[in-house]
Amino acid sequence: MAAKGRVLMVVMDGLGDRAVPEFSARTPLQKARTPNLDWFARNGSSGIMDVIAPGVRPGSDTAHLALLGYDPYEVYAGRGPFEAAGIGLVGKKGDVAFRCNFATVDEGMNVIDRRAGRIAEPETDELLEALQSLEFSGVEAIVAKGTEHRAALILRGQGLSPEVSDVDPHELGPVWESKPLAPEAEFTAMTVNRFVRRSHEILDGHPVNEARRAEGKPPANILLPRGAGAFPDIVPFPQRTGMSAACVAGVGMIRGICKVCGLDVLELPDCCTGGLSTDMERKAEIALEALEEHDFVMLNVKAADISGHDSLPDQKVEVIERIDRMFALIRERLPEDVVMALTADHSTPVSVGDHSGDPVPLTIHSRHVVRDGTEGYDEASCAKGRLGRIRGKDLMPILMDLANRSEKFGA
Ligand code: ZN
Ligand code: ZN
Repeated sequence: MAAKGRVLMVVMDGLGDRAVPEFSARTPLQKARTPNLDWFARNGSSGIMDVIAPGVRPGSDTAHLALLGYDPYEVYAGRGPFEAAGIGLVGKKGDVAFRCNFATVDEGMNVIDRRAGRIAEPETDELLEALQSLEFSGVEAIVAKGTEHRAALILRGQGLSPEVSDVDPHELGPVWESKPLAPEAEFTAMTVNRFVRRSHEILDGHPVNEARRAEGKPPANILLPRGAGAFPDIVPFPQRTGMSAACVAGVGMIRGICKVCGLDVLELPDCCTGGLSTDMERKAEIALEALEEHDFVMLNVKAADISGHDSLPDQKVEVIERIDRMFALIRERLPEDVVMALTADHSTPVSVGDHSGDPVPLTIHSRHVVRDGTEGYDEASCAKGRLGRIRGKDLMPILMDLANRSEKFGA
């Protein structure tokens, strides 16, 4: 049996698109000048991929689960746990996790600022300190901060259920009561509501908020949970695949998914934010370095998704050309045994301004992969390649096989 190879999966978040009329009906990826992406397509096998299933609009969370080889319909139970894990709060089976906002409410419990003036650390550190070690009828409440006004909450105790509605009203107006969405969730909904009331009692008169009022800033006087989810009970990725694995991603939720799946989530320098200004080349270097100690590395580059959400076609082209320059570096330094996938977690068409169910382009490059004559890396060219049209959960088995890591089925 041939030597085992390593695997690098590069996920260009939101890369896929639809025809843009101003671009003579080309997609941003077709319009962009991408000599390096095209080189990989010419020296690889290509196809298109329905990350969940044809026509299904993936969230980044369910999509990344599928790319890692899990069936999201089996393991996904809400985004709360991934958000919590993304900021370092990894729970266990039975815990219910929420993402939260610090918000501002008036005396009538109406939300008047959903982000409390985008409050940030160190103020949020002090506020969360005051909310530690709260307990409600045997249920422990654990809180941690995210970026700016964001935070996460884990409820830990007996008899909890993630089937509860949000407290965050998602707009200005009265704070919602959490309601049970299933009969067994009544106790959980009650606990959430008690936590929210208690957070208001503690935070409203907190010295940090007194100081904010004195400066004319909105007080962060309540914590509003939403997106309840249960921590999935999954077989860790290294155990499933026999590969040690790392993730290079700036976005909290992606980091959280990888953490929950048992990947090493690498700490990144400040230049690698997951935003538009992220230093992609540095990120690629970190991913290549991570391959020295891991068999599998997932690299997520977020920027194209942002341009898609903002419906900015020209900006998306520019972002793609920057991504292409990142691939120049990868092309130069990719070790010979590495099997690399170049793909996306979903399409984020500029004409939609959100994720769509359009399949994403996929190229697999390795020293030995069949060169299938694909001429360039884009939605249409890749569709002519020999990988055809696959689903996201098929990708890991294909990569494992190309890396000589698959178990033989039969004798
Ligand atoms: Zn995404
Ligand atoms: Zn998105």
